[in-house]
Amino acid sequence: MKARTKKIIEILKETYPDAKCELNYKTPLQLLVATILSAQTTDKKVNEVTESLFKDYPDLDAFLTLANDELEERIRQIGLYRNKSKNLILMFRQLKEKFDGEVPQTMEGITSLAGAGRKTANVVLSNAFGVPSIAVDTHVFRVSNRLDLANSDNVLEVEKQLQKEIPKKEWTLMHHLLIFHGRRCCIARKPKCKECPLSDLCKYDDKIY
Ligand code: SF4
Repeated sequence: MKARTKKIIEILKETYPDAKCELNYKTPLQLLVATILSAQTTDKKVNEVTESLFKDYPDLDAFLTLANDELEERIRQIGLYRNKSKNLILMFRQLKEKFDGEVPQTMEGITSLAGAGRKTANVVLSNAFGVPSIAVDTHVFRVSNRLDLANSDNVLEVEKQLQKEIPKKEWTLMHHLLIFHGRRCCIARKPKCKECPLSDLCKYDDKIY
């Protein structure tokens, strides 16, 4: 690991000591559902919707009783809700039929489910099962490129570069740290470079002061 990367990790840890997954869940299945719902939607909005959804449908057996139109109604405040509802209904059946009702603990298993891509799998594997992973969402992608921890316009390539640059034991925490920094400081349109603790180390050409 480069000295610069080490310093970036140290500063992010000091700045965001509480960095963690901001989706609310109690089981791997609830995290899987929440993560699928979170695409192009804020975690806050997802938490608002899942609070009552998980109360009324706490496990797979309960989810399997849900009809598509009922689920659509429950999640209609969420972006792309029709598509997400259709995928979730199918995913619940796949979990029952192919995985004995359990969330699989492998990348291959999770990505075989309807609506679950690589980012979703990485979030579930790291947070629910303790498997070191770097899920590259929009924040991780933007911030790691700006900081030159990665340098690519391809999500999978960014994930590979981050895995190479960051020690494995830090992967999961760095995923959360980069998201926290992206949401609070290194914002997409108007990064707060003036108050950014990484400003001296950052190589972004279009810093805003
Ligand atoms: S200096 Fe600006 S661009 Fe660089 S990490 Fe900080 S906020 Fe982001």
